[in-house]
Amino acid sequence: MKVFHTAKEVVSWRTNEIDRSKATIGFVATMGCLHDGHRSLIEKSLTENDYTIVSIFVNPSQFGPTEDLDKYPRTLQEDIKMLESLNVDALFAPSVDEMYPQGIPLQVEKQRGAFVTVLGVSEMLEGASRPGFFRGVATVVTKLLNITMPDVAYFGQKDIQQFVVLTTMVRDLFVNTTLKLVPIVRNESGLALSSRNKYFCDESLQLAANIYRGLRSASELIESGTHKILTRQTILDRIYSYWNPLIASNDFKVDYVSIARLSDLQEIDQIACPTLGDTVISCAVFVTDREDPNTVVRLINNVIV
Ligand code: AMP
Repeated sequence: MKVFHTAKEVVSWRTNEIDRSKATIGFVATMGCLHDGHRSLIEKSLTENDYTIVSIFVNPSQFGPTEDLDKYPRTLQEDIKMLESLNVDALFAPSVDEMYPQGIPLQVEKQRGAFVTVLGVSEMLEGASRPGFFRGVATVVTKLLNITMPDVAYFGQKDIQQFVVLTTMVRDLFVNTTLKLVPIVRNESGLALSSRNKYFCDESLQLAANIYRGLRSASELIESGTHKILTRQTILDRIYSYWNPLIASNDFKVDYVSIARLSDLQEIDQIACPTLGDTVISCAVFVTDREDPNTVVRLINNVIV
């Protein structure tokens, strides 16, 4: 596997070593600490393209000043082993200076240079809780797509709003890459695999799986065929029946639950059943670790129905 640290090296690889009239490039953007969720994106790219390039870059501009940028796990050597075992063609692991030549202070007012903002779909849900987050994501993905120029880029359903923001960006800015959504990979208890799961003790990891139990139960209700119309409240009641005990025990604090149209994330008041895969129930929940109550991690999850 080629390992590149500069944009110039990647550009030279894709222009001098690949005949783009015959071969396609698939791209997977990651922040490293790779797990089976990343693996499924990479495997899809490997299956569908002649070449696959993966990036590992913990992008400072998508972290708020009080978020976990310094704590975010970095495991480059193990990640390289995993990518090599999958036969990935190239890894792009740039430095912060390479990606942000003017530096990247976390306070937006101090930042300098070009940034990409996707108005509308960036503003609710994750965007409301994490101001600047999607501006950081859209900016780094623009940089990465311009450097790698892939035919197809793969993103996980786990970050469903990210996918909606990026498809809007690619459409509106005429970026010549197709974006594809890859389903969530979960552990045996249903928790979406995440690099942030590492912050929890085993007991809290087990409890965190109830986030998905609530969502899954709502999707089962919707897909059961027993209702023609389900109101938002009925769906929320079903979800909270799984979460309420954990809210009461201070394990969970709900940031948001959204029941929205997948195309633009507009909230809906009722769901007409059977659904067509055009609705997404998504949530963010703060989970407090039982061993170390100072560790509070915000987990996101969703189901498409
Ligand atoms: P990250 O390294 O967290 O920035 O994630 C890189 C890519 O992997 C994003 O497109 C994520 O949506 C995707 N991803 C992360 N976790 C999962 C998962 N459990 N299932 C599917 N995709 C995932």
